[in-house]
Amino acid sequence: AMPTVRRVIFCLVSLGSIGSTVSFAPLKSLANYPSFKGIASDKGVVSFVRDAPHHVSFAPNLRSKATPRHLTIDQAELNQRIARFYDDSSTLWEEVWGEHMHMGHYGEAGTEKKTDLKAQIDMVDRLLDWGIGGDKPPADVLDVGCGVGGSSRHIARRFGSKVTGITLSFLQCEHAQQRSEKEGFSDNTRFLVADALSLPFEDNSFDLVWSLESGEHMADKAQWLSECHRVLRPGGRLLIATWVHRATTEPSCDHRENRQLILSERALLDKICRYYALPAWVELADYQAAASALRFSSICTADWTAAVAPFWPVVWRS
Ligand code: SAH
Repeated sequence: AMPTVRRVIFCLVSLGSIGSTVSFAPLKSLANYPSFKGIASDKGVVSFVRDAPHHVSFAPNLRSKATPRHLTIDQAELNQRIARFYDDSSTLWEEVWGEHMHMGHYGEAGTEKKTDLKAQIDMVDRLLDWGIGGDKPPADVLDVGCGVGGSSRHIARRFGSKVTGITLSFLQCEHAQQRSEKEGFSDNTRFLVADALSLPFEDNSFDLVWSLESGEHMADKAQWLSECHRVLRPGGRLLIATWVHRATTEPSCDHRENRQLILSERALLDKICRYYALPAWVELADYQAAASALRFSSICTADWTAAVAPFWPVVWRS
């Protein structure tokens, strides 16, 4: 039989080129976050499942099956740190910022005056406009790295879609569910604790896979993109907005190995990695290469560094 050709569209927006326009300082203020202390490493086991409250739904592959192959000890440990980071920091973020855990969009040139909440909502809308435009609205959506579900509910509201959100953090999953119940979205949003590198969904399940500032946490970009590709229906779309470092002529999927980044840039990226539980940074071309290797069609990218530049200074002031 002929192999089925599944054309799946890839759209990616880069948010910030380290070393040029975006400044991530002052990182020091994060040093007191509880999540950076005493992270237990339970070798080879996804042990954050253990402490889960009952009312959080598990993705079955995290509860019952053996450790997935991609979960080398490093990946398992990284996933624990990510879960811990968001378990520890989300409540405070929600108190100060609300349900959106991502940058704001201040107009193409970053010059529009608006409240920061409005800028965050505009970010979701501009990304949907850019990635979907006037095409048929997606019926089934996967929000990869959903935080407390800000985008999930926004997409459900705008398109009437059914949205599934996944996160590694039990606390976020719980808060996302509570917020959906409160706001009347229980029927069209659901949230699971699940790993984006090993998605607990059938092939061809979604029309849109949405990732807003979660890609930077994925150590194996190719594995992640291939999982997204697998769960998308033919004609479906992967829409990503993520942090990347500035372009070089030797993309390497690892900022530490990239000799074109100067030492101070690599040192800054290392710092950000430690604070935010991130693996090595990549550049836009790394994503493009991974997407072409997976035969995504219509690969489009854009650089929104300028649009989000006003956001960081505001975060640090808060
Ligand atoms: N998209 C949300 C949250 C961004 S924060 C928003 O914009 O509000 C990053 C999110 O990615 C967190 O919810 C974190 O749990 C999730 N994440 C990181 N790595 C993940 C992984 N491997 N699998 C699933 N979720 C992941």
